[in-house]
Amino acid sequence: MDDLFLKISRREIPSACVYDDAHFFAFLDIRPCNKGHVLVIPKTKYRNIFDMNPDEFSALAKVTHTIALAVRKATGADGINIIMNNEAAAGQDVFHAHIHIIPRFTNDGVFTPPTHVTYLDGEAEAYAKKIRERLG
Ligand code: AMP
Repeated sequence: MDDLFLKISRREIPSACVYDDAHFFAFLDIRPCNKGHVLVIPKTKYRNIFDMNPDEFSALAKVTHTIALAVRKATGADGINIIMNNEAAAGQDVFHAHIHIIPRFTNDGVFTPPTHVTYLDGEAEAYAKKIRERLG
């Protein structure tokens, strides 16, 4: 079954398109954090990062880089957030891989200050070791 973003990429559902090539499509988010907030999607169906191999993700990152620079110039943004939500626990609502490009302006108050946790003694090294081990 085609998902919402695939339908948008095939122009079966209207969007404000900013980029379209053989493999990727980018369009304005319908509920933007700031004006010029873009979503970049592959035209191939992937649920999220866990479904993509390194080359597929690299290609998405490359086109995102190109579009992000254009978004910054077009909006005059002071900064840009590049965000990918992977799975519901991370805030993913639409289960077709996509990257958010969010123009940011000084003191725009878009995101509340990030929460943080504190490592207990030795815990940071234990986490770093676990991740290193899984990098093979
Ligand atoms: P996420 O929470 O990372 O899955 O983000 C999904 C994004 O898709 C949200 O920011 C929505 O505002 C956006 N969105 C949902 N439907 C549409 C649509 N028809 N056109 C443009 N953006 C959409």
